[in-house]
Formats: sequence, C-alpha cells, structure tokens
Amino acid sequence: MKSKYEFRTAQDVMRLTKAHKITISELAKRYEVETSGKSVAAVRNKMKLIRDMMYDAVRKGVKSGEKSNTGMAGGDAKKLYNSMKKLSEMMGNRTTVRAMAYAMAVGERNACMGRIVAFPTAGGAGIVPGVLFSGMEQLKGRKRKLLRGMFTASAIGLIIAEGSTLSAAKGGCQAEVGAGAAMAAAGLTEMRDGTPEQCFHAAAISLKSYLGLVCDPLGGLVEVPCIKRNAIGCMVAIGASDMAMSGIQSFVPFDEVVDAMKRVGESMSPKLKETALGGLATTKTGKTIKTKVCSK
Ligand code: SF4
Repeated sequence: MKSKYEFRTAQDVMRLTKAHKITISELAKRYEVETSGKSVAAVRNKMKLIRDMMYDAVRKGVKSGEKSNTGMAGGDAKKLYNSMKKLSEMMGNRTTVRAMAYAMAVGERNACMGRIVAFPTAGGAGIVPGVLFSGMEQLKGRKRKLLRGMFTASAIGLIIAEGSTLSAAKGGCQAEVGAGAAMAAAGLTEMRDGTPEQCFHAAAISLKSYLGLVCDPLGGLVEVPCIKRNAIGCMVAIGASDMAMSGIQSFVPFDEVVDAMKRVGESMSPKLKETALGGLATTKTGKTIKTKVCSK
C-alpha cells in the first residue's frame, strides 16, 4: 500500500508539502518514520548521529595535514581553512571559503582512510557538510536548523536516485558531485527559510551545471580531481541557493533536469564513468599515477 508521505519526484513533494502544509524536511522525516517503522525521535537521532560523524570528519580534516598514501591528497583543507585569517585577501567570503575548506576536509579524510559519511556517495561526500555546516555558522542557526537542511538534502538525493542514479559507474561525476551539490543547494535554501519551490529551483540550477560531468579519477582513486570538485561544488550550491532566494527560477523543472541527467549518463562513454580510462585519468600525470598505484 502506498504510504501517506511517499514521494519519488519533485512533483510528488510539491503536492504533499502543499496538502499537509509542511516543509520538505518535515515530509522527508515523516516518510522515513513511515517506511522504517521507527519513532520520530529515533529517526531524528539517526540523523543527529550522521551529523555528528560528518562534523567529526570536518573537524579532523581542517586540522590535519596528513597526506594520503599516494601523496595526491592532504593538507589543502588546512591551508584553505587557515586562509580565513586573512580573509580580506580572498575573493570568496567567509561562508564560501569555509564551506570549501570543510568539503575538502571530508575528501581528505576519505583519502586518508578516515571515517566519513557517504552523503550521497563517498566521492561527493564533502559538499553537503561543507555547505550546511558553513551555512549554519553564517546563519547563527541552531543545530535543529542543520537537521532540516540534512532531511531536505536527503529528499533531493532520493529523487535523483529514483529518477536517475547516484552511481558514477552509471552517470559519471554528475551523479556524485552533481547530486551532492543539488542536495546541498536545496538543504541550504530550506535552512534559509526558502519555500519548497525555492529549494527545487536551487537544486535544479545546481544540477543543470553538472550535466555530463565525467568521472575520471587519477589511478582510480577518489582523490584527484574529486576533492577539489567537492570544494567547487560548494560554490555552485551556495550560488544556486542565493539565486533561488533572490527569486530566480530554473526554467527547466527539477524532475526534467533529473530526467536529462539520466539520459546524458546513458549516452556517456564507459571510459568516462568510473573506469579511469578517459579524461584526466589518461593525461600524462594520470598515467604516471596509475603506474605508481599499480606497482604498489
Ligand atoms: S571523479 Fe568520479 S570518483 Fe571522483 S568524485 Fe567524481 S564521480 Fe566520484
């Protein structure tokens, strides 16, 4: 039997949030309560646990200068975080620079075998914590607000998984960094008290910027270009949220963007979908790294 709060598309979400006069985050929470059979408190506590694990990765990552085994990753999050001491020399503001540092921190923890939350995937795991934690600090919001952002982000992830994919092997990097940026854009927009419509405009504007992005990790490792792509994904998500909050709309609705993403993924060469057989992975530098990794 179809549940009261079940959704698969943005259209479903819009219908249900209007019918019940609730936010996207509230809908996502109620849907999880229904499908898991757990109490509201248990569902909230699980999200809090995820939040705390994310925060742990961020905190350790910005302090650590640890390098990954390949030497390709590590130390950049700390550099960027420390650059906030001379913010007047940066072009980004505190929120964007901090978000990028946090996102890189998560990517570097992953590359150094630390614990992270694959939200939505390991490769795209930095953007949601980067944007939402930094956004919360900017908004001087309480942790409750952050949880709302996380539930909204998870609803966007579910819609992408249903209508397209969260697998780089199927969709390329648009399915990892692209999905993560769309989730973060919507989550941040709800944290700013944006309407469900504005959340979907932010997600659509963000995801449109990633259609066709190839997955081409050097040596097949989630380090280069992945970690810096997460940092840039924060800029895209924050920019998309700013646009949506300014009243700018995505001309193409979110569900149609997700459908386009699916079709683009299907038409991409397997060389550009997690095989490390194309793109940056096959540059001179990429080939050198591959030889190094294979000889270990
Ligand atoms: S390049 Fe591939 S492995 Fe790296 S983040 Fe993108 S999808 Fe993930």
